[in-house]
Amino acid sequence: MSNILIFGHQNPDTDAITSAISYAYLNQKLGLEVEAVALGAPNEETEYALAHFETDAPRVIKNAAAETQEVILVDHNEFQQSVSDIRDVTVLAVVDHHRIANFETADPLYYRAEPVGCTNTIIYKLYQEKGIEIPKKIAGLMLSAIISDTLLFKSPTCTDEDVKAAKELAKLADVDTEKYGLEMLKAGTKLSNKTADELLDTDAKSFPLGDKNVRIGQVNTVDVGEVIERQTELEAAMAEQNSKNGYDLFLLVITNILSSDSVALAVGDSKDKVEAAFNTKLENNTAFLKGVVSRKKQIVPPLTEAFNK
Ligand code: MN
Ligand code: MN
Repeated sequence: MSNILIFGHQNPDTDAITSAISYAYLNQKLGLEVEAVALGAPNEETEYALAHFETDAPRVIKNAAAETQEVILVDHNEFQQSVSDIRDVTVLAVVDHHRIANFETADPLYYRAEPVGCTNTIIYKLYQEKGIEIPKKIAGLMLSAIISDTLLFKSPTCTDEDVKAAKELAKLADVDTEKYGLEMLKAGTKLSNKTADELLDTDAKSFPLGDKNVRIGQVNTVDVGEVIERQTELEAAMAEQNSKNGYDLFLLVITNILSSDSVALAVGDSKDKVEAAFNTKLENNTAFLKGVVSRKKQIVPPLTEAFNK
C-alpha cells in the first residue's frame, strides 16, 4: 500500500510546511506509513527555519491521487486551499486552527480543530497526549511555526497555550526565542528581489465570501513604504490575477511586524466591501488598518460579514 501523504495548504507558510513534518514524525512513531509533503516550495522565512534546524524541505506534489488514496490535512481544511485533486482521495484526518468551510467527506475521519494560534501548538499537545518525545530539530521547527503564526506572540490569535507550547519547545530546541524569532521573521521580509506576482503569491489564499471569490494575500515587512512604492506595478498584477482567475476582489495586506499594523491595498469590483468591513474609506485604493495583523481573526471575519450583507 502506498504512503499516506500529509500536507499543509497551497502557498505554504512555515506552519503549513513544519506541521506536515511534525505530524508525520508523530504518526510514524505511532506506526503509520506517512510522508510529509508540501503543495509548494518553502518561502524565505521557512527556508531560514529549515536551514537552522538542519531539515530538508518536504517534496512538492502537484496532485495526490496518482500516488496515494489517503491523505491527512494540516493547517487547512478548505478544499480550494488544498491539493487540486482533493476530491479524488480520502481525507483520513485534519489537524487545523482555521474556520471550517467548504469541507465535507464521504467517510468518518479524525478531525482536531482548536482555536489556538498555530497548528503546531495542537500537534505539541498531541505529542503530550501520545507520550511521544519531540526530537530537538522538530521542536525547533514547531517553535518556528508558532513564532511565525503569532508574529512572536503579538497577534490576537495567540493564546496562552501557544505561549506555553513555545516555552517548552524552546527548551527542547535550545534556542533563545526572542532573538531567533526576530531573525527568522526578518528572513521572510526580503521583498525587493521579488516580482509583483511572487510578492502577491507569497502568502495568498482564496475565500468564497457571499457569492464572490476573494483573494487575500499578506506580506510581512519591516518597511511598508518599500512595498507601497511599487503600488502601480502591484495593482496591475492584482487586476490581471482578478481577470485571469475570476476574483471579485484582491486584497493585499502589508503587515509591519515591528509595529503590528497593516496597510491594505484593494483591487477589484468588490473593493467597496473592504470599506464596509473595516469602516474606513479607501484612499488611492489603500487603507491603514491599525493593530490588524491576523488574516484569520481580523480580516476574514469582518469581510465575511460585509459580503453576507
Ligand atoms: Mn498556514
Ligand atoms: Mn497556521
